[in-house]
Amino acid sequence: VPAIDLKGVTKTYPGRDGKATHALGPVDLRIDPGSFVSVVGPSGCGKSTLLRLVAGLEMPDTGTMQRYGTPLEGPSHEVGIVFQEHVLFPWTSVLDNVLLPADVLALPKAAARERALKLLELTGLKDFAHQRPQALSGGMKQRAAFCRAMISDPRLLLLDEPFGALDALTREELSLELSRLWQELGRAALLITHDIEEAILLGDRVLIMSERPGTIRADITIDLPRP
Ligand code: ADP
Ligand code: ADP
Repeated sequence: VPAIDLKGVTKTYPGRDGKATHALGPVDLRIDPGSFVSVVGPSGCGKSTLLRLVAGLEMPDTGTMQRYGTPLEGPSHEVGIVFQEHVLFPWTSVLDNVLLPADVLALPKAAARERALKLLELTGLKDFAHQRPQALSGGMKQRAAFCRAMISDPRLLLLDEPFGALDALTREELSLELSRLWQELGRAALLITHDIEEAILLGDRVLIMSERPGTIRADITIDLPRP
């Protein structure tokens, strides 16, 4: 079964003065398990709306949405999300930040802790596990956000401009790191980015969206090996 299967999905936002914004669709999209799909397109073409729908953070107006063969209704431990802004709580340790969703999802405590430490090690943050997030650089904070998104061992990772707030060098470094990590993990991913190079580097598939009417205009298969 596909990781994601959207059929005829549309989304319109009600406007303040009665002028609604047609943000997305109709969109048909199937994502196979294990495939990495990048989405590019101009600002306002509906990329974030698409991601929020797949995340279960938004309801479509029309169409059907399935995740791993079951109707997509709300968030799930099968899905990890990383946003542009690392949202780490300054009050608690890096480790506890990574463990936050474990409480919400009621994951077994000891196993979650072990997994968190393994993820922190994998991303070079092990020595910072017991420090507060302010001890981390921007790139390190984003790595911690990845660890948190991966804590429930999700089959699908949603990435909304995860490198958008970073400087060019850190951005390149981190995307190469993600590319390597991905070859190891082999999960499905949906990446939203403004950067066509990044989209091609990381994706097995690149979707190009356009504004008005917020649809997918091209679906390109990238069959180059990953760096
Ligand atoms: P991006 O281009 O990265 O999606 P935006 O600056 O367009 O970022 O939007 C940031 C957030 O603000 C969006 O996720 C959306 O929820 C919200 N937003 C965007 N446009 C509007 C709008 N016209 N009215 C209300 N909220 C909006
Ligand atoms: P992108 O991520 O490609 O920049 P978005 O999905 O954020 O695009 O936005 C698509 C369209 O929907 C834009 O016109 C945006 O202004 C509008 N929009 C997004 N979020 C909201 C919101 N919460 N309320 C009203 N309009 C929104």
